Amino acid sequence: MTLHDYLDFVKQRNGHEPEFLQAVDEVIQSVYPVLERHAEYRKLKLFERMTEPERLISFRVNWIDDKGEVQVNRGYRVQMNSAIGPYKGGLRFHPSVNQSVLKFLAFEQIFKNALTGVPMGGGKGGSDFDPKGKSENEIMRFCHAFMGELARHIDHRTDVPAGDIGVGGREIGYLFGAYKKFKNEFSGVLTGKGIGWGGSLIRTEATGYGLIYFAENMLQAAGTSIHGKTCLVSGSGNVSQYAIEKILHLGGKAVTASDSNGFIYDPAGITEEKLEFIKDLKNNRRGRIKEYADKYKTATYQDTPPGADSNPLWAIKADCAFPCATQNEVGAEDCNRMVRNGVKLLAEGANMPTTPEGINILIDNGVMYAPGKASNAGGVATSGLEMTQNYMGTNWSSGEVDEKLQHIMRNIHEISLAAAKEYGKPGNYMVGANIAGFVKVAKAMQAQGVI
Ligand code: NDP
Repeated sequence: MTLHDYLDFVKQRNGHEPEFLQAVDEVIQSVYPVLERHAEYRKLKLFERMTEPERLISFRVNWIDDKGEVQVNRGYRVQMNSAIGPYKGGLRFHPSVNQSVLKFLAFEQIFKNALTGVPMGGGKGGSDFDPKGKSENEIMRFCHAFMGELARHIDHRTDVPAGDIGVGGREIGYLFGAYKKFKNEFSGVLTGKGIGWGGSLIRTEATGYGLIYFAENMLQAAGTSIHGKTCLVSGSGNVSQYAIEKILHLGGKAVTASDSNGFIYDPAGITEEKLEFIKDLKNNRRGRIKEYADKYKTATYQDTPPGADSNPLWAIKADCAFPCATQNEVGAEDCNRMVRNGVKLLAEGANMPTTPEGINILIDNGVMYAPGKASNAGGVATSGLEMTQNYMGTNWSSGEVDEKLQHIMRNIHEISLAAAKEYGKPGNYMVGANIAGFVKVAKAMQAQGVI
């Protein structure tokens, strides 16, 4: 089969799912040389099988709002691939959630989880429920209703969900409470749990910290470091907050943060104190990032119109860029501007934040580019460490978990570079990460037969 045959195969079955097709397209472009080299993978139709979810569950979620009105949402769990471990991947609550978005995320998760070295398969789930503007009680009732159905399909050895956009520590608490009640069982069925009831230290920080550890590895391989570098960060949620924190720890300067309405630019840099303000604003008061510029006069705020082709955040002069909000938030024009401004590195904190055209522009112009499946794998890796602690009935210290996280990110960096070199694309982290993840899962599927 040619590369186009593979794409046609997936398009025919999933033509109405653009995000999923985009993710599959990126992976097949990278792993096609592996399929050419390995007749046994082609014969077993491993790639075709990887693009078909092992199981896709869609369900109704009924709940009652504060006015006493019945609300109906749609819930999903995509159990994509369990060749190397139980399905693992977050839950997203956002109005943009649909089958295509969750299938792209679950597909990416297969390779990301394989890269971590922790035994975890790929999955993803969520709902089109919008947590914005909902009361605390409404959030709780929705989470309980959602788990009312999901609980039938997950178990600590089968499928272990975690958080994602719109699902943080608060929601994991409500979801866990419901599972425990329905199943009459206290187990590590979710990760991202609170410390004191099964959670792992450093899990909250892990995606953002891991992203910056990964970037530091890339910069060191190029003979430099993040120290003294000016960094653009988008988003102001979990991943962004801890990416900014680690940039600060390593002596860099983060100058931007954003949300779905707009972004702030603070040329003086986001300090520890200003970061605490963002955490309180977003995690406790659930306000808009605009308030940052009202409080700190060194900063300016600009609205970002929804659906615009480019975002002025990426036109700010800087050395490094870390998109940490959502998919396709960095387009071709944004990448052209970054190239003109001398940006040296773009590492993805979010999943698939850069469009395919944008990625090509970065790579063709020598910008070091890290795909999310490598650079944001620290979150799921630490979820894996949480599962291990739950199985063992133990708790590791922050230092121990952080050390393991740094080791995992260093290892992902090394295996991605090695795979890229082996297949004639030295220094290409996208190709390397896709190949290293794919080969690990392919070998497991081959060993287990056609099942
Ligand atoms: P949060 O919900 O904590 O934060 C998301 C941030 O992105 C918020 O600032 C939000 O703005 C903004 N955002 C969300 N949707 C959009 C949109 N459509 N347009 C513009 N801005 C948007 O999520 P996380 O930080 O957990 O996740 C961010 C990204 O990182 C996602 O792609 C996620 O899949 C990925 N990721 C997360 C991991 C984790 O451990 N949490 C692990 C690996 C990847 P607002 O405040 O207005 O909602």
